[in-house]
Amino acid sequence: MIMSASFLEFAQENAALTATTKKLEKRALLAAYLRSLAVEDAARAALYFAGTPFAETDRRKLNVGGSLLTKALQKVAGVTPAILSAAYRRYGDLGDAAEELFNARERPQAGGLTLGIVAEAFTRIAAARGPGAKLPLVTALLEVATPVEARYLLKLILGDMRTGVKESLVEEAIAAAWGAEPAAVRRAGMLLGDLPEVVRLAVAGRLEQARMRLFHPLSFMLASPVATVEEAVERFTKELAAEGETASAIHGVLEDKYDGIRAQLHCGDRSQPGRVELFSRSREDLGASFPELMEAFAGLREPAILDGEILAWQPDTGRALPFSILQQRIGRKRVTAEMRERIPVVFMAFDALYLGEALLLEWPLGERRVRLEGFIARHAPATAEAIGREQQNLFAAASPGFPRLIVAPQVPLESAEHLDRAYAEARARGNEGVMLKSLRSVYQPGRRGLAWLKLKRELATLDVVVTGAEFGHGRRAGVLSDYTFAVQDGDRLLNVGKAYSGLTDAEIDELTAFFQAHTLEDNGHFRTVEPLKVLEVAFNNVMRSDRHSSGFALRFPRILRIREDKPVEEIDTLARVEEIYASQPDKPMEQGVGDGV
Ligand code: AMP
Repeated sequence: MIMSASFLEFAQENAALTATTKKLEKRALLAAYLRSLAVEDAARAALYFAGTPFAETDRRKLNVGGSLLTKALQKVAGVTPAILSAAYRRYGDLGDAAEELFNARERPQAGGLTLGIVAEAFTRIAAARGPGAKLPLVTALLEVATPVEARYLLKLILGDMRTGVKESLVEEAIAAAWGAEPAAVRRAGMLLGDLPEVVRLAVAGRLEQARMRLFHPLSFMLASPVATVEEAVERFTKELAAEGETASAIHGVLEDKYDGIRAQLHCGDRSQPGRVELFSRSREDLGASFPELMEAFAGLREPAILDGEILAWQPDTGRALPFSILQQRIGRKRVTAEMRERIPVVFMAFDALYLGEALLLEWPLGERRVRLEGFIARHAPATAEAIGREQQNLFAAASPGFPRLIVAPQVPLESAEHLDRAYAEARARGNEGVMLKSLRSVYQPGRRGLAWLKLKRELATLDVVVTGAEFGHGRRAGVLSDYTFAVQDGDRLLNVGKAYSGLTDAEIDELTAFFQAHTLEDNGHFRTVEPLKVLEVAFNNVMRSDRHSSGFALRFPRILRIREDKPVEEIDTLARVEEIYASQPDKPMEQGVGDGV
């Protein structure tokens, strides 16, 4: 067995972190603790404080969900489902419930768990195939856990420590612990995507040696929504005014807002020739669904990280096909030749994060764009040939290839009227709206600022996460078809509505299976489920209501689509609901039950 620091101390440290709300105190606690550990333990602890069992570059996953943990917990704590369910309801968190249940029984006071043993167990759990193989491993780990260890083991496995510690705070603590510049730690973290490696470099005082590693996703820059042309122009000039420009100057560019799948393309690494990765916004690997893109970019020999949108494409008209068509290509285990023919796809690039050997994030958009255009001019033709060759192998009569790498057209913004016209033209091309971007803005990973604005003028929609599922009525009596959903407010999820219309039968079947596997609490008709599925919902208006925990309810909500591409951390906020509420000309109050909510 490897020598390693006690997991009990790590768990107690997390308990201490929740006891203070002050960021500076949390950072000091983290720094002092990390500093007290040997390098490899500090490396593991840094990762675990951020709620991640594996480093970002490490593509392994535990794949252990709430229902498997519930089973393991029932067994180890020796409780009935009803008792577990009641404990869960008291806390709304499996880890907290586990601690209470463990406290109520004879439990080991120190089971000898170490950070190293937990790391080894995670390796085995990730390698085990299927819930049947994973369950005994998880159970064995819980068997030797003290109450507080069980609490933080479960939170860590579920990926949410609820200590108010994010990766960025862990990075600050690493800087404080080893006397490094916070910016140097942050930069190394972004370049490497490997917190343990950052700890090793910080300990050795070699942070400046961190070099960009391809093939781990960087966070995506996000856009702020605006509802009207006037609001877009106003917000945009405001941002420039803040930068010391005259308020009338518009240094903006317009692009169409495409309705596809946002993706980050990594390719061209000279030390790993042929390797290509396509990451979604939730850091999922999209490659398997789009093999022709992987083939098309495998031949590139210039390192690149591009930001863009995967689109279903009509090469003859040069337009995108609707999202509903692209959707047919998502989540398939095997993409048939027929699929590839019928729904061709391209990567529409609108930004470059890394090209050649240069990290471009801190360059202004205008300069990134020049580099992006150069890259595409050099490499796009070859992406057509690669597919052409592939298809010739598959079909006797090969259809001519077309470039799979396209640069998103961009025009300078002239005026509010121009924006209005551009919006109409974008819609006429079948796109969702327009994006307005500041040419001087740097690429801010993970930030939703005012440097990118999105203008889509339909009725507002909200991205929400499902927290509860119910069996429907009539034809839908056997399936979980009614969904209660929430927005986020800091660390909390607050319910804001319930919807049952908008999805196809196939989608409902799929969600039923998913929620059955991710049920936290089964109350017969109603189930509390793990907050994992993001939906985009439309509605007629927002009203104040005490029916849901957010204090708001949506009137006539309907589901527009399942947003597999959107991570839960990026769902809409309570503040956004309040904003929509405030923007309504007549602010309805709930009239009473039966008014269509
Ligand atoms: P939303 O998903 O509603 O938050 O809107 C932002 C999304 O618009 C991004 O995540 C992209 O997927 C998408 N998008 C489409 N076209 C563009 C573009 N030209 N520039 C940036 N984002 C775009």
